Amino acid sequence: MVIPSFIIPSELQLSKAVLVNQDPSLLIAAVSVQKRSACPCCGKQSKSVHGFYDRSLADLPVSGRETKVILRVRKFFCKNRKCSRKVFTERFVDQIKPYKRCFSRSADLVRSVGTELGGNKGAALCKVIGYPVSSSTVLRTLKGIGVTARALTSGTIGVDDWAYKKGRNYGTIIVDLINKEVIDLLPDREADTLADWLKGHPEVHTVSRDRASAYALGIRKGAPDAI
Ligand SMILES: [Zn+2]
Repeated sequence: MVIPSFIIPSELQLSKAVLVNQDPSLLIAAVSVQKRSACPCCGKQSKSVHGFYDRSLADLPVSGRETKVILRVRKFFCKNRKCSRKVFTERFVDQIKPYKRCFSRSADLVRSVGTELGGNKGAALCKVIGYPVSSSTVLRTLKGIGVTARALTSGTIGVDDWAYKKGRNYGTIIVDLINKEVIDLLPDREADTLADWLKGHPEVHTVSRDRASAYALGIRKGAPDAI
């Protein structure tokens, strides 16, 4: 079955795209036909094909069904004599990152869901909509987000610990409790780290926290007048 072009990222140059029903999931097989690719080492474009291989990529669900794309891609010779790389794998600007096992748009979906719901609930929702991932995968996508520290508007925050990896690696999450949004992630749960953050945010007047003594100390040091 030939598939409509809107189902796979339209910017990709593909041929022989077919849709295979593997009830309950869908499989799309396609061949990349872009004429050239840029060497990741020196940036020089190459048309010189070394060979082929298949990449298996998770894509957005189609009609709620889990969808996988088997994409035949190429390796290219780098023709730049000064470049240390002789052979490199085909590159796809933004749609498919090197070494990833999903399309960038799929990772964007998981990241958005994870931002709203966190690891466990995010993974549960992804499963319902046809993109099953583990809770740790959801959290891993969140680690890539650059949350930019900025001035609060409300001055009322909540501070709690947050697991990069449950049971092993914890940081601190800071939430604006009036605007109901995450405003920063700190790399650890230390009093001094929180104190430093608070010193950079003098508008904070009210802090909600759990009983962790490190947070109590951090707040006393960083925002001594806060409630
Ligand atoms: Zn090169």
